[in-house]
Amino acid sequence: MKNERKTITIIGGGPAGLIAAQHLSTLPDIDVHLYDQKPSVGRKFLIAGRGGLNLTHSEDTVSFLKRYGPAENFLKPFVEVFSPADIQSWARDLGIETFVGSSGRIFPTEMKATALMRAWTRRLTDQGVQVHLQHTFIGFNDTNSPVFLNKDGNEIVVKADALLFATGGASYPHLGATGAWAQELEKQDINVVPFKAMNCGFNVEWSEHLSVKFAGQPLKNIELCINGEKCHGDLIVTEYGLEGGTIYGVSRTLNETLDQNETATLLLDLRPEFNAEQLAIKLEAPRKKQSLSTFLRKQLKLSPLEIALIWEHCNKETVQDPQRLAEAIKKLPITIVSARPINRAISSMGGINTSELNTQLMIKNHPGWFAAGEMIDWDAPTGGYLLQACFSTGVAAANGIKHWLKSDKQI
Ligand SMILES: Cc1cc2nc3c(=O)[nH]c(=O)nc-3n(C[C@H](O)[C@H](O)[C@H](O)COP(=O)(O)OP(=O)(O)OC[C@H]3O[C@@H](n4cnc5c(N)ncnc54)[C@H](O)[C@@H]3O)c2cc1C
Repeated sequence: MKNERKTITIIGGGPAGLIAAQHLSTLPDIDVHLYDQKPSVGRKFLIAGRGGLNLTHSEDTVSFLKRYGPAENFLKPFVEVFSPADIQSWARDLGIETFVGSSGRIFPTEMKATALMRAWTRRLTDQGVQVHLQHTFIGFNDTNSPVFLNKDGNEIVVKADALLFATGGASYPHLGATGAWAQELEKQDINVVPFKAMNCGFNVEWSEHLSVKFAGQPLKNIELCINGEKCHGDLIVTEYGLEGGTIYGVSRTLNETLDQNETATLLLDLRPEFNAEQLAIKLEAPRKKQSLSTFLRKQLKLSPLEIALIWEHCNKETVQDPQRLAEAIKKLPITIVSARPINRAISSMGGINTSELNTQLMIKNHPGWFAAGEMIDWDAPTGGYLLQACFSTGVAAANGIKHWLKSDKQI
């Protein structure tokens, strides 16, 4: 019985499913079948590469793991087993070198994902992984076997000695991760935390002047603060509000605040490199005949957008008083009214509740079913932490499946 060929069914061809397929297809007497509803695999991974594929991050393990917030302890053993260094070795093994950018982020030297994806899919083919495209998982039959709808509209029931769900979260649904699987898993008594946008833009009710005149312009080297949490970097002012890595970095806290209150207040520090006293000294210099805008531009090198933000958020008395103005420049209160829709978010929070999974990522009340990637309820800011957790959980689930197939507990 133990020497029979076994079939592993993987649903989802994003990084989590693909890395699991790569690990499992080296095992003897195993057939790995990967199903994806799109006409090609790795669509989100390829889009991620458009602006520079940030594979992981070089910071120390303790700081790295803190990025996962409440999911830190859940992810720790998986990230330790397949670490940032392992991602770099994996890419090198596929012929792709990586480098550490000035921010500590790790990228392929070509920045894009295309060459890496090409080498990866070639490797999977060489290792015998059978990929079934345009097959949408639609639920289970009476004997709990997974059912797919193929592109001709036919229902296909497949064999699975072990089943891995790697169907992604619910952002950018046009790339395949629609979150529609959630209701099928809920029917199986698997708890799925509702999805929410993460690493997303936020809506601000700018004045017409600000949104028309400054939409698309950057705020560089600023700092945001909410509930004591700070994030330093750049932002883009858009017609509807704010976008960019710095606001994505506080999106978990912003979303939590918006759950409790109608609005959330972000404190925007336009000159984090100076304290308020240093700014006030610069502002006490004689203005002579200069307009206040010219004076601010020359004294503090504030851009027209930054000056417009000051006008929008400060009253007359504040702008005339160097001390109060200095304090305002360090803490401009920006009222956030809501998050942008999930379909434009870089990632989602929510998914299979981590309490449903054992330490090998097997669904506790469905022996032989595993989960990996963004479909599990963890989240992280941008910076390579998302892909790292997808790779690490993909490898962990593959190890769990290996262990499961060797055990006597299978039916
Ligand atoms: C614009 C953008 C830029 C990003 N940049 C980065 C970055 O630089 N660094 C980083 O760390 N992260 C980045 N991310 C996030 C990262 O790409 C995702 O976290 C990661 O792709 C998730 O991997 P996954 O395998 O869990 O899911 P996905 O990559 O979403 O893959 C899930 C797969 O499952 C398939 N699927 C879903 N439902 C079904 C079904 N019912 N039947 C069959 N197949 C199904 C989908 O078609 C899809 O191929 C970015 C995301 C976006 C949108």
